[in-house]
Amino acid sequence: MRVLQVCAEIFPLLKTGGLADVAGALPAALQAAAGAPTGPGSVDVRVLLPGFAAIVAGLHEPVVVADLPPRPGVTGARLLYGSLPACASLPGRSLMAYVIDAPSLYHRNGGPYSDAQGHGYADNHLRFALLGWVAARLTSGLDQFWRAELVHAHDWHAALAPVYLRAAEQASKRRLAASVYTVHNLAYQGMFAARQFAELDLPDSFGLVDGLEFHGQISFMKGGLFFADHLTTVSPSYAREIQGPEQGCGLEGLLRMRSRSLSGILNGVDDAVWNPRTDALIRHHYDARKLSGKARVKAALQQELGLAPRGDAPLLCVVSRLTEQKGLHLVQQALPRLNELGVQFALLGSGDAGMEAAFRVQAEAAPQSVAVRIGYDEAFAHRLIAGSDVILVPSRFEPCGLTQLYGLKYGTLPLVRRVGGLADTVDDAQLETLDDSATGFVFDEFSAEGLLEAMDRVLALWRRPKDWALVQKRAMASDCSWEPAARQYLDLYRRLTGVLPA
Ligand code: ADP
Repeated sequence: MRVLQVCAEIFPLLKTGGLADVAGALPAALQAAAGAPTGPGSVDVRVLLPGFAAIVAGLHEPVVVADLPPRPGVTGARLLYGSLPACASLPGRSLMAYVIDAPSLYHRNGGPYSDAQGHGYADNHLRFALLGWVAARLTSGLDQFWRAELVHAHDWHAALAPVYLRAAEQASKRRLAASVYTVHNLAYQGMFAARQFAELDLPDSFGLVDGLEFHGQISFMKGGLFFADHLTTVSPSYAREIQGPEQGCGLEGLLRMRSRSLSGILNGVDDAVWNPRTDALIRHHYDARKLSGKARVKAALQQELGLAPRGDAPLLCVVSRLTEQKGLHLVQQALPRLNELGVQFALLGSGDAGMEAAFRVQAEAAPQSVAVRIGYDEAFAHRLIAGSDVILVPSRFEPCGLTQLYGLKYGTLPLVRRVGGLADTVDDAQLETLDDSATGFVFDEFSAEGLLEAMDRVLALWRRPKDWALVQKRAMASDCSWEPAARQYLDLYRRLTGVLPA
């Protein structure tokens, strides 16, 4: 089966969040789950990416597949094909990729989606419409040697892939390919002014309410949700939650209407990148049987951050975008009390300027127990997660969440709110009944009090080192691999392409 993954970012070439990790890990996981690389049952997975400078630079031995016809906002664009050696999780294997080479659209001074001030680029609708348009054309001969049988688009940037596919099918009156659209975060929808619809070169009817129209604007996300054959989100709980008004972002009605074609498939963690036994970014390695390396990473981390060199104080960490979604203002409110309780806290993050400043002030006020690093730093994220005892993820909503999974793998017990993928991946430790499933701490109420209630349990368990080690070992034994997800996606692809009964 020929599968095209369509995504705007990919680890390690370009990453703003968990989406890139998924794009980087899923192709290899799918190939591994399918078994033999060729023959019946095999999958040939390729990715399609916009030609951001970092992605073009990572493309090995590119060949020109096609000169793209002029489209609104761009002329002279080309489709390249090559391999992305940096994205292959197995040595000797390559991830094959199509990259849209259109410097006028993708080479910008700021980030991939917005400028240095955080404002979305004015032509984002054109930049990401082209991604969807090329994806659809790869089902019908844009590459004369390869046609996708299934297009799997991720998040709003790729959401027009199933839309252009449907338009092409309507125009040619034949089925071209199956489509899957995965929502990694419903809160980012790709909203544009209604007048910009005309520049998308889609049938007029697609701009109406049974299409992209959304409260007088157009929403790329809604287009993906409306036109894809099947929808997935990145956890079963989030798949349920987005069908309700609290987390549906106004799309809950459509999601309920499509609920028979909506499923939740939990993300995994790439073991080649996140594994305390082999992690090239930490100096001391460890596993569940021998945790002494973790204590050494913690001591080195405390020294690096200027925290008091205390093995007896639990060290809590956060690695996160600093946005309202992540609930980190609860941590800010709880920090004075956490200081009184004698815990240490270290944060790596960037985002909301007010939140960055407030965390900095808190670190300056208590340098022995609070350390804050503002910025994006992949290597430090590994040291921080490996060296901490607890990782906090108190999100208001969380489609899947990856850092709690890293926490499980590194024996850094997750303290999470019971929502979305956090609820699906962390089992709460109730101290009275410390049963065989506990892997972390879970709280319900979205408040500093809720967080502090769970902290009481963290500290009570911390005072029982044997029980702490037990929960730690269990956490480290959790299956966070991509294998179950890859199997579920493969099943879905096979049903949609008719290889398996629907
Ligand atoms: P989201 O995609 O909503 O940001 P996830 O938990 O799914 O949240 O994924 C976040 C990813 O980004 C993780 O791989 C995490 O380690 C990484 N990350 C977030 N902030 C930083 C940062 N400041 N430095 C390094 N890595 C970060």
